[in-house]
Amino acid sequence: MRIAIASGKGGTGKTTVATNLGAVLADCAEKVTYVDCDVEAPNGHLFLRPEIKSETEVTRRIPVIDNDRCTHCGKCARFCQFGALTSLPNVTLVHPELCHSCGGCAIVCPSGAIREERVSVGTIRSGHAGGISFVSGTFTVGLANSTPVIRAAKEAAKSDADGWVLLDAPPGTSCAMMETVKGCDYVILVTEPTPFGLHDLRIAMEVCAKMKLPFGVVINRSGEGKDMIQAACVEASAPILAELPQNLDIARAYSLGILAVRALPELKRAFAQILLQIAARTRSRQAPKLFEAANTQLT
Ligand code: SF4
Ligand code: SF4
Repeated sequence: MRIAIASGKGGTGKTTVATNLGAVLADCAEKVTYVDCDVEAPNGHLFLRPEIKSETEVTRRIPVIDNDRCTHCGKCARFCQFGALTSLPNVTLVHPELCHSCGGCAIVCPSGAIREERVSVGTIRSGHAGGISFVSGTFTVGLANSTPVIRAAKEAAKSDADGWVLLDAPPGTSCAMMETVKGCDYVILVTEPTPFGLHDLRIAMEVCAKMKLPFGVVINRSGEGKDMIQAACVEASAPILAELPQNLDIARAYSLGILAVRALPELKRAFAQILLQIAARTRSRQAPKLFEAANTQLT
């Protein structure tokens, strides 16, 4: 079961939900992998405190032009759908920040003037945090397209696909968020009861609907303003999976890098309920086992 935890707006509590769900699954003796796909600012490690066992570099291929061989025919620039090549009368230029590494320009070049070079775009770190397998991607600062690092992080968690995989998505609804949620069984959209939270939740729900992904909503720091979120969920036929309270103890634990379910064990049930609802809605075969574990171990 692959669940993405996303949000239209940053700072709504996505990582809080993802890491606490991971802890509850581990407490239920379920096989779980947490994947930090927020590769521009990963912070799941602050709460899970994993022991890192391996580091892998993520690279991608960028074309390099041999201007001695180039006849400046312009075929490559006309072929590239992303505007990553400019062919001028005396020189052909590559714009690496626009390149999607499809390799097509090297194939269409009639003069063999294009070779590809591997460049580093980020790192994948893997390890364990108690009973949780941990994967985190970090995107190299200053580059433009983070999706190869997100793909690599998702790939690194593939071998654990028979358990639960929790993908902590980047904020927003850009390509990076879409790359994370693509192929998931369910998307949890975490929001807050503010006008900005509502605005961005609406966009995120639209994206999930367009991608034909089932989704539900968690209202974090629930309180004044939650009515407008509830109304938007009714409008979009989105279930509200949980309302997490505005609570000083949770905020204090967060600031110290302590999981909410460790600071307030009574919250475990709320997180377990989120998982049980998703398992039931997706008719997952993991539902009965989780239900039993939640009843016997979360007391
Ligand atoms: S590899 Fe693909 S995306 Fe990159 S420059 Fe060549 S054609 Fe364009
Ligand atoms: S297709 Fe090859 S020969 Fe033509 S402009 Fe591009 S690099 Fe030069």
